Amino acid sequence: MSTIEQTTEKPGNGARAQDSIAVENPATGEIIGHVPNLSREQIEDRVRRARAAQPGWEALGFKGRARVMLAMRQWIVENRERVIETLVSESGKTYEDALLQEVLYSVHSLGFWAKKAERYLRDERIRPQSWLDFGKKLVLRYRPVGVVGVIGPWNYPIVNNFGDCIPALMAGNAVVLKPSSVTPFSSLLMAEGLKASGLPDDVFHVATGAGGAGGVLVDNCDMIMFTGSTETGRKVAEQAARRLIPVSLELGGKDPMIVLEDADLERAANAAVTYAFSNGGQTCISIERVYVHEKIYDEFVEKVTEKARQLRQGKPDGAGSVDIGAITFEDQMEVLERHVADAREKGARILTGGKRREGAGRFFEPTVLADVDHSMLIMTEETFGPTLPIMKVRDEAEAVRLANDSPYGLDSSVWSRNVARAEKVARQVQAGATCVNDALVNYFALGQPFGGVKESGLGARHGAKGIQKYCRTHSILVTRFGPRRDPNYLPYRKSRTRLLERLIAFQFGRGKARRSA
Ligand code: NDP
Repeated sequence: MSTIEQTTEKPGNGARAQDSIAVENPATGEIIGHVPNLSREQIEDRVRRARAAQPGWEALGFKGRARVMLAMRQWIVENRERVIETLVSESGKTYEDALLQEVLYSVHSLGFWAKKAERYLRDERIRPQSWLDFGKKLVLRYRPVGVVGVIGPWNYPIVNNFGDCIPALMAGNAVVLKPSSVTPFSSLLMAEGLKASGLPDDVFHVATGAGGAGGVLVDNCDMIMFTGSTETGRKVAEQAARRLIPVSLELGGKDPMIVLEDADLERAANAAVTYAFSNGGQTCISIERVYVHEKIYDEFVEKVTEKARQLRQGKPDGAGSVDIGAITFEDQMEVLERHVADAREKGARILTGGKRREGAGRFFEPTVLADVDHSMLIMTEETFGPTLPIMKVRDEAEAVRLANDSPYGLDSSVWSRNVARAEKVARQVQAGATCVNDALVNYFALGQPFGGVKESGLGARHGAKGIQKYCRTHSILVTRFGPRRDPNYLPYRKSRTRLLERLIAFQFGRGKARRSA
């Protein structure tokens, strides 16, 4: 049997031995368990079994599948303490980050897709557009692709892992999920929940393994949903292109917040602190940079700094114990330290935080930076941690120009009491999504497609697009009544050709005649 990756180089969370992966609690440094580092053959076997189970799952129909999803919702609610405990111990996130983001998203999503999948995937009747398809019945069908491979990251072990499996399953696919090797236990727990909820055997598998395990899914599945870094996303897309299978990618982000001079400063400052620091800032759509109008810059910076200084950070110990948890992945610490050091060297003021916390566990203090600009890495590269750099701008136009000066385009926000003005500014932002007077909550608006542009991704989750992507379309044209011979049938006859020619000239030549008249 060939193991896919045989190194033990990865320190801390996700350390890999030949056939097992150690999982660490980043808030304490303790190893909480091991999961198998599956071989290529073992993963291929799971895909094969999933493929064999898929037709039976599809045949259950929307209602049969919805029953399993609703039972799973109930299971998560009943087992939420265990789910939260698993999330907290493998990622170091707070109780509230686990409950209000991961658990809430999963139960909301299970109900949403159980209810909406049938509506989004029912046959669409297409109206004929001209005499060329007149009298035909035109239907567009959605069929499951077969086996969907979901490759997930470590920052949201449920939302961005199991979360994407829900619409894929509701569409009638079997799914093989490869969670990040850093946080695999939450996905294994979801598999246990699905089994207890009545999911037929082999419809859902979790393939634990190192990065190469993701590559085995790309080699064997019929479609890939990937969430993670832009660098790996590009590799996945290239590999998928060789097999001509579809991919949907949600990648890195550098989400801008634009605060105009007429914004509700108190709300904007509270939101900046919440959405830059919750989940330790390890959210693809967290606020990563702020542009504030010069008239209110000092007041905004002061408010934000004051609020950030009050946040409690440390080992999560139940509800309300801390506001900010640990840095899940060791490599992220190096990025944070490098970005903050670079900003400091280039003249930024560090108003609070700015360093790794002493003592046990892996923590980086919530950090507010002022007097930053685009010569600094912290304003241009994804930092993915609890940092909040705030830049002064002259006006709205400069804010938009700087917000768009980025290879990324995931989420974004614009803040002003003048909602019409803010919406106008929002429309100029180059991003897959923009909130006005809010941030991040659009991820919970499941009816609205969410996805990145530029280097932030391809495709979308949520809304009709978020489930139709797990299907191949099948267009059917039905001719119910027809003559024995249509005018274009072989063999060609001059008289019929002339008739068709006149028809073409009549239909398509009239506009020109009218214009020249
Ligand atoms: P990666 O993109 O490296 O990993 C994401 C997933 O892909 C993991 O399951 C990983 O497995 C897997 N993977 C790794 N290599 C391959 C490959 N060649 N083919 C298929 N799958 C592969 O992200 P990281 O978790 O290492 O995070 C790196 C950076 O990405 C972060 O610092 C952050 O900037 C960004 N990021 C963005 C996220 C987002 O939501 N947009 C989420 C997470 C990270 P394994 O974990 O076992 O290596």
